[in-house]
Amino acid sequence: MTAEGPKILIIEDEQEIRRFLRASLAAHGYRFLEAETGQQGLRYATSSQPDLIVLDLGLPDVDGLEIIARVREWSTMPIIVLSARGQENEKVAALDAGADDYLTKPFGMGELLARIRVALRHVLRQGEGESPLFTVGELKVDLGSRQVTAQGNPVHLTPTEFRLLSTLIRHAGKVVTHRQLLNEVWGPDSLDETHSLRVYMAKLRDKIEVDSARPRYLLTEPGVGYRLVAE
Ligand code: CA
Repeated sequence: MTAEGPKILIIEDEQEIRRFLRASLAAHGYRFLEAETGQQGLRYATSSQPDLIVLDLGLPDVDGLEIIARVREWSTMPIIVLSARGQENEKVAALDAGADDYLTKPFGMGELLARIRVALRHVLRQGEGESPLFTVGELKVDLGSRQVTAQGNPVHLTPTEFRLLSTLIRHAGKVVTHRQLLNEVWGPDSLDETHSLRVYMAKLRDKIEVDSARPRYLLTEPGVGYRLVAE
């Protein structure tokens, strides 16, 4: 099984973290490649054709954002970034540059494995075409007929609320930055309207959550954006 598992490239200068990841990923059937520097990472990204990259943003030689930009010139492979606590601007910049998701150090292996599963699932789904039905917990959305039910009850959404929800569904399980949401739902002229985004998000939560103060589906990622849970 290990010979067939998805191949993960880790670009991380901290030996301790590489050792921890190597053992855990191998135990879960992933193949593993490690680079200690950004330059080495970029070489492996092209020469070894990994299925996914886990990228530390704090590397000694190349800025993590530059690595993302360089990989995105030729590949859409998922990139999950690792970032230090409190570096919200850095995370947002990485996501807006094309990273798929992030984890804040220190993180648990369970969290990383969940992020990897979601990112790889998105790749598979792109190959198969999207399903029109989205279900998580008691939330059901039919993207074709635009019918939404929550806790068994029909939910009536305005066109904008539906567009916001369907955008989050397209990225289900992954974090979406404020900027990405504003761009995809309202267009590139509305990137500053984070206040309206918050207002719409509150309305959407009122309609689909059991307790909008303790959301089960639409999670806030403080300082970064939102995540619609996928499982
Ligand atoms: Ca580092």
